[in-house]
Amino acid sequence: MQRNTIGVISLGAVALALAAAVQSLFQESILLGTAYLLLASLAVPVVLFAFCAKCPDRDNCGHALPGKAAAALFSKRKCSPYTAGDRALTAAGLAVLLLLPQIWLWKHPVAFVFFWIVMIAAVTGIRAKLCPSCRNTGCPACGGKSRGTGSGKGR
Ligand code: SF4
Repeated sequence: MQRNTIGVISLGAVALALAAAVQSLFQESILLGTAYLLLASLAVPVVLFAFCAKCPDRDNCGHALPGKAAAALFSKRKCSPYTAGDRALTAAGLAVLLLLPQIWLWKHPVAFVFFWIVMIAAVTGIRAKLCPSCRNTGCPACGGKSRGTGSGKGR
């Protein structure tokens, strides 16, 4: 299967897992579900700003949407090594998106298991089909392998 097809499917799978989490949070309370949606709508642009906007592959993003969104929203950000601030913001954004809902999600076993099966399948697909050709050597998942280009080089 094509790299971008896997990338788009895996992004859709992550969205599906998050939708299951959102549904469970709304089952807990409307306030909780709404608060998470608001936090998530802030966390996504934070990750796009801190991580994707500096990615050397943002114009050739395997997931398509994040790279295009980062380039459109934060066009002045240049590809350069991630700073401690970039990493902290990225970690905070991902923690809000993926870890915060676990506080309540575990009480909904079907949604909890669905969330993690879908998430693990998505990450497995990304690791197998996207990571090997991704040029973002500044990504922690990259393991620091050099492929000639990377976030250490200017755009
Ligand atoms: S390839 Fe780059 S732009 Fe695309 S999701 Fe990964 S870090 Fe973001």
